[in-house]
Amino acid sequence: DSKPIDRYYHFIMTADTHLLELIDAMGVRDRLNWVETETQFYANGRMYRFTSPLDLLRFGALGPIDRVRFIATMAYLTKFGSWQNMETKRACQFLPRWGGRRAWDVVFRPMLNMKFGELTDQMSMAWMWARSRMVKQYREKGVARERRAWVKGSLKTLLDACDRWFDQNNVTVERHNPAERIVLDGGRAVGVRDREGRERRFDRILFCAPSTELTRLLPEGQGPYFDLIRDQRYFGVTCLVAALSEPLSPYFWTYVSDPRVPFVGVIDYASFTRHDGGQGQNVIYIPHYSLTHVAPYTTPDADLLADYCRALSRVFPGFSESKIREARILRDPTAAIVCDGRYSQRIPAMKTPVPGLFLANLSQIYPQDRGLSVGLKLAQYAVEALERDADVAMDFAPY
Ligand SMILES: Cc1cc2nc3c(=O)[nH]c(=O)nc-3n(C[C@H](O)[C@H](O)[C@H](O)COP(=O)(O)OP(=O)(O)OC[C@H]3O[C@@H](n4cnc5c(N)ncnc54)[C@H](O)[C@@H]3O)c2cc1C
Repeated sequence: DSKPIDRYYHFIMTADTHLLELIDAMGVRDRLNWVETETQFYANGRMYRFTSPLDLLRFGALGPIDRVRFIATMAYLTKFGSWQNMETKRACQFLPRWGGRRAWDVVFRPMLNMKFGELTDQMSMAWMWARSRMVKQYREKGVARERRAWVKGSLKTLLDACDRWFDQNNVTVERHNPAERIVLDGGRAVGVRDREGRERRFDRILFCAPSTELTRLLPEGQGPYFDLIRDQRYFGVTCLVAALSEPLSPYFWTYVSDPRVPFVGVIDYASFTRHDGGQGQNVIYIPHYSLTHVAPYTTPDADLLADYCRALSRVFPGFSESKIREARILRDPTAAIVCDGRYSQRIPAMKTPVPGLFLANLSQIYPQDRGLSVGLKLAQYAVEALERDADVAMDFAPY
């Protein structure tokens, strides 16, 4: 099918205010398709609804006492505590202690495994706390259930609108020509050399690519700030994207907690793409974050696809491999920063010690999770830092 679809799933939530402002400014608000999305949970060989508070009260994968402890723990996280305090606690200790061992095994651990893979046991409670707060924010905006939006025609619709804006405002965007060197003169960053060896001079340089790339572009021995950057690690993501001949299920999000199933979440785009009476595309995504030297990042595509197909037919009895019209396994080595332990003490400042050189990337949005809206908030801080030629205090904690 020739209709564009997002390379990785990208949905918009009601609390993504910075992104929604950009969408307005670029004049593509009418291209949003808002959908009331629902979640289900596969455990003990059966499916449970997992969308509303009532669903949680009836969540049969946990016994009555475990269910109450699970709900109470989630409620606590949305109302009390601070990320600073939560950062001193490990998720693998805090959650089983308060939520109960069964809730940890069935719900929390699989959820955290999807995001943090083999580093799950090293993660503090800060991420879980911030995540719970974000869910609360969606609800506070008057949404009893979660609503998500998809940009019709994929994020390409927004990016094309940005391109038009760039043209009208004499902004030059150069694609497919990576920076190879940051040029220093007397210790000051004065320019960028590209792959062709061409050098361009700038008053100030803002570096926005993953941190691992920054140290490559500078000579060795730039001091402790850059040692910190060099030590930053990333989770890669391995993501199956598949177009099916029919919808997998009516649910947008399916959590899976089953040791025989090699994934923990399935995202179903069918409700997004079926808009304006259009036929839609039955696209599903199965993401898995991990370090890049271990499975599933290192698993050959054909093996992964075969494993996922077997598991999909276990979870969704109506599924069979013959229903896949097209499938790809996509990988990104720098999908999310590893913010383990007391990461707040390792956040790099925006103004680097090299005069004229600034850094703004996902290593600085802690305790928030990566996202387009938070990236735009970061960009606002970056503009301020560039204009003032000074560092700025950043705050990304959800209220
Ligand atoms: C699987 C997945 C699902 C996601 N889903 C959502 C979602 O539903 N909603 C949401 O809001 N967000 C989502 N995100 C997050 C969102 O995609 C990220 O927040 C965003 O990509 C981060 O943007 P960034 O520009 O900071 O970094 P990146 O997207 O990593 O961009 C960095 C850019 O730097 C470029 N670059 C690298 N090296 C050089 C060089 N030497 N010279 C020049 N350029 C260079 C790269 O080509 C790249 O374009 C998702 C991310 C993933 C991985």
